Amino acid sequence: MLKESVHNCVIIGSGPAGYSAAIYTARAGLNPLVYAGKNPGGQLTTTTLVENYPGYPNGITGPELMENMKKQAESFGAIVKRQTIVKVSLVKEKNGINKLYTDNNEKVLAKAIIIATGALSKDLGLESEERFKGYGVSSCAICDGFLYKDKVVAVVGGGDTALEETISLSQRCKIVYLLVRSGELRASKAMQCRLWKISNLKIYFYHEIKEILGERFVEGVRIINNKNKKESILSIEGIFIAIGHIPNTAIFRGQINLDQMGYIITKKGSTHTNIPSVFAAGDVQDAVYRQAITSSGTGCMAALDLERYLMENH
Ligand SMILES: Cc1cc2nc3c(=O)[nH]c(=O)nc-3n(C[C@H](O)[C@H](O)[C@H](O)COP(=O)(O)OP(=O)(O)OC[C@H]3O[C@@H](n4cnc5c(N)ncnc54)[C@H](O)[C@@H]3O)c2cc1C
Repeated sequence: MLKESVHNCVIIGSGPAGYSAAIYTARAGLNPLVYAGKNPGGQLTTTTLVENYPGYPNGITGPELMENMKKQAESFGAIVKRQTIVKVSLVKEKNGINKLYTDNNEKVLAKAIIIATGALSKDLGLESEERFKGYGVSSCAICDGFLYKDKVVAVVGGGDTALEETISLSQRCKIVYLLVRSGELRASKAMQCRLWKISNLKIYFYHEIKEILGERFVEGVRIINNKNKKESILSIEGIFIAIGHIPNTAIFRGQINLDQMGYIITKKGSTHTNIPSVFAAGDVQDAVYRQAITSSGTGCMAALDLERYLMENH
């Protein structure tokens, strides 16, 4: 038997975007309901020290920061549920009611929705990669590059993100190795032009990673030339996996407009999607910046856009 309830505002996702939207909508008296999903607190719960979120001069651990955001949202009346939304039925008409279905078989009716389901960085799928996450394996040079000043690091990938990470790391690291699986870079020509000017960069085309090596922290990487099958070891202290991100938009496909990579398309300068009562915030609609602060910023925007929508249509 399905249980039904009606809400002004349902927020899907409990990362910085979801909780920031919850703080604003709760303070506006909209009693938001937040579905936290399989990763409560979002991506930051998988990292240690966050040093670039404003307000914490000594940094704060990711899990602590997210627990603070949750508490702040709850203190204003947001209800946070552990469930995952598994299906949605979104209405195109203004003042229509959207239907959401949870993994514990509840049906939730919502006048308006904020999608803040984030994105996942793609993994290489190695056991050693999992073991060293946060101990030398990273998927974000903007977040962690600072820790590798004057050190030797490697970047994996050949697209725009990999090249951006490489360029940024080359400015503070001693040497950057770029490991590319094929014989060419997929990144834009403009980005490639910037790469050729870097003196402390060595590119390994046709190379893949077999294993990340070390005791507690990364100390090296065993790579294989996939043409001649020769293996070698590079001594490094950090490795940045930059082979792409997957936005969590599978359940919205066919109902919300997505770009070629699967990110939700929002109207420029706002969080509006093609569905009037549905707004998107955070990494799920941002293939460029992907930071906690930008996610919080768009979470705030989504809350204000949603509040205005409710005032005009309900
Ligand atoms: C290891 C690591 C370190 C990082 N370090 C930094 C840093 O130092 N500084 C910084 O600014 N940024 C950092 N980032 C990036 C930052 O974490 C992200 O930009 C930010 O978390 C994105 O926030 P978000 O709210 O959009 O989504 P996310 O944090 O990805 O959260 C998505 C949420 O949606 C939920 N969800 C997904 N699908 C469903 C569903 N169907 N139903 C219900 N819930 C769902 C998930 O459970 C999760 O709670 C780091 C990222 C990683 C991976």
